[in-house]
Amino acid sequence: MNYKNPDEYGYYGEFGGAFIPEMLYPNVEELQKKYLDIIESEDFQREYQDLLKNYVGRSTPLYYAENLSDKYQTQIYLKREDLNHTGAHKINNALGQVLLARHLGKRRIMAETGAGQHGVATATACALLGLKCIVYMGEIDIQRQAPNVARMKMLGAEVIAATSGSKTLKDAVNEALKDWINNPVTTHYVIGSVVGPHPFPDLVARFQSVISKEIKEQLHEQTGRQNPDYVIACVGGGSNAAGAFYHFVEEENVKLLAAEAGGHGIDSGMSAATTFLGTLGVLHGSKSLVMQTKDGQVIEPHSISAGLDYPGIGPFHANLFKEKRAEFFSINDDEALKSAFELTKLEGIIPALESAHALAVLEKKSFDPKDVVVICLSGRGDKDMETYLKKLEDGSLKMEV
Ligand SMILES: *Cc1c(COP(=O)(O)O)cnc(C)c1O
Repeated sequence: MNYKNPDEYGYYGEFGGAFIPEMLYPNVEELQKKYLDIIESEDFQREYQDLLKNYVGRSTPLYYAENLSDKYQTQIYLKREDLNHTGAHKINNALGQVLLARHLGKRRIMAETGAGQHGVATATACALLGLKCIVYMGEIDIQRQAPNVARMKMLGAEVIAATSGSKTLKDAVNEALKDWINNPVTTHYVIGSVVGPHPFPDLVARFQSVISKEIKEQLHEQTGRQNPDYVIACVGGGSNAAGAFYHFVEEENVKLLAAEAGGHGIDSGMSAATTFLGTLGVLHGSKSLVMQTKDGQVIEPHSISAGLDYPGIGPFHANLFKEKRAEFFSINDDEALKSAFELTKLEGIIPALESAHALAVLEKKSFDPKDVVVICLSGRGDKDMETYLKKLEDGSLKMEV
């Protein structure tokens, strides 16, 4: 089974495709025809690789977390995507797509954002490369992620509130798709995860695949072996996980563990654990697993972390789930919080709440002392300080571990 590459229609197994309104088809078709030639060209790669190195700060460290390893009695390495410029893995994709837009001759960039991380990354890339930037964001997310909204504005982006539905990420995606229909020629839509119509899932996975490329090289340098026993990553739409899994997905001896946001628990009615709760459906342009009612209306997801608060999952991951190539875990809000405080206490690293879901898998699975376990630390916790402080102050979580 080829897990990594979709077929010519954008399918990973039975998931994927390009289920879009006819009016959007010319935009998507243009991308489908041109994206591989452009991003594989020498010109593009020279500029992209230079920016990753000198602007983003890659490669990011692969850090052997000794204290965490002691606690869990196994060999834990953290892939430090939190150390990227703008604080998460999202810049790898945003820079790539804004560069691609420039090669396509588009001058107007438009994006959606949940936690605000993708909006900040896109606004950053646009400031750097001199393109106009519009970001759609759910009204509720605008409230819970105020520092990122301020950053986008300072970077020159226009932030537009999505006021329909749950006023969160899925509604921002709807607004962005509407905008793209209205501005087909001038605008490139920078999708922030491995979701959306073909070729976006593949395009974003390729830009994020630098994560596993570096893991391979760094692990080899540090341990003499290229493959870990486990790779763990959190999954919202699935871009950091796709990047962390990419160069391991065809290697059977590497086990892939994916952490979804359980919210208050799978059966609580307040969850975002798509593989546990989702059924086959179409969301935002691709066929995948979707949290939906029997008549196909999207069910409101819930997660304490805005970046995982999404009722779908990319087709790449839906296929890994269906084929049992990856094992999926549902991590509840309080379990993620506990892991965030644990990492902070043991290693002096404050993780993003999203990344804390990946860390919490350490409690759910037992590892051998000789196992090499790589965890993708997708982002830093600066944006989540308000949530963390509230937990500290209400005394429900002590700093002792
Ligand atoms: C956005 C975000 C995620 C979730 O998005 P994916 O596409 O699933 O990677 C995870 N971690 C951080 C830090 C994020 O900002």
